[in-house]
Amino acid sequence: MAQHISYFSPGPAKIPDEVLAQVQEQLINFDTTGVSIMELSHRSKDFAKFMDKTEAVVRDLLCVPDNYRVLFMQGGGSGQFAAVPLNLISRTGKADYIVTGSWSSKAAKEAAKYGKVNYVVAKTERYTGVPDRSSWTFDPDASYVYYCANETIEGVEFHDVPEVPKGVPLVCDMSSNYFSKPVDVSKYGLIYGGAQKNIGCAGVTLVIIREDLLGKPQPICPTILDYTIMSKNKSLYNTPPSFAIHVLGEVLAWVKKEGGMAEMERRSVQKSKMIYTIIDNSSGFYSNNIQPRSRSYMNVVFRVGEGGGNEELEKKFLEKAAHQGLLSLKGHRSVGGIRASLYNAITIDDTQRLANFMKNFREENKI
Ligand code: PMP
Repeated sequence: MAQHISYFSPGPAKIPDEVLAQVQEQLINFDTTGVSIMELSHRSKDFAKFMDKTEAVVRDLLCVPDNYRVLFMQGGGSGQFAAVPLNLISRTGKADYIVTGSWSSKAAKEAAKYGKVNYVVAKTERYTGVPDRSSWTFDPDASYVYYCANETIEGVEFHDVPEVPKGVPLVCDMSSNYFSKPVDVSKYGLIYGGAQKNIGCAGVTLVIIREDLLGKPQPICPTILDYTIMSKNKSLYNTPPSFAIHVLGEVLAWVKKEGGMAEMERRSVQKSKMIYTIIDNSSGFYSNNIQPRSRSYMNVVFRVGEGGGNEELEKKFLEKAAHQGLLSLKGHRSVGGIRASLYNAITIDDTQRLANFMKNFREENKI
């Protein structure tokens, strides 16, 4: 019998087995068109129908208000690091960035090419949570406030929407916790995320933008990063990443069938708690240095070994885990240690297998 695989990759990440089977079944004959989605003309009626259906499931799951546009773009999260300032900074030439980890730091550096960036929280090399609100300093002139809802590398997540100065649009990178919980879209000017973690495969970036923010791109904004042009053309200005959009639609249809946003949140809380509880009850054998209120439900990051981590023991942990079919648990090279990514496609059963493994590994290796 084939070994049971639990795949905890941070992204590209697990796609539900059921969805993969569905995509496979449709691969040769998409929706009775007689051709594959990869072959279908993006100027055909069938394609327009497919795009409308995919947009509808996005709108339905996140209850996207009517004054927001949904865009399917290319260039990944990193493309958006540039697209956001290129489209939104022109009002005052300045923007606020709340930097809480590696990805928001990269976004801030990219934005500084196109305008003046104010760091709302003090710069640091080690990210351990969302700094206390009393220490934040906003620029009253900022065109927007930017933050990353879940820092995939450090495992730092916002569990509420940051309060920002009234009238300043809030921009959010949701790449690694998109569709993992209900979102009040009306609190945002713009939300974006690459699909390859929680909502599909690499190649498409889902952008949700409030209509009044369109129409003010910088003159140098490349056409394919221009929200206004993309919106006018219903994301079909140029050839879209059709296969990736198809997978996204199938993943979201699965999310809906499984119970939608509230159910995804319930599962995420339960799964992450299973692992954090083992860490916290391990008498220091496992450690996580993120302030408890900012611990990520998506990416649980920890070290193995008393005294804050032992690289030899972590190597052994990864080898033994892989031997049992628990894969892709290595932490990001910049922080080391272990990272268990618990996106929507990871089941309670997968998480239980990891929890059991962690308990046994500790018993066998504690001092
Ligand atoms: N933002 C976050 C939160 C991410 O985790 C990543 C990728 N891991 C990115 C942005 C960059 O995305 P991409 O690789 O699609 O450019």
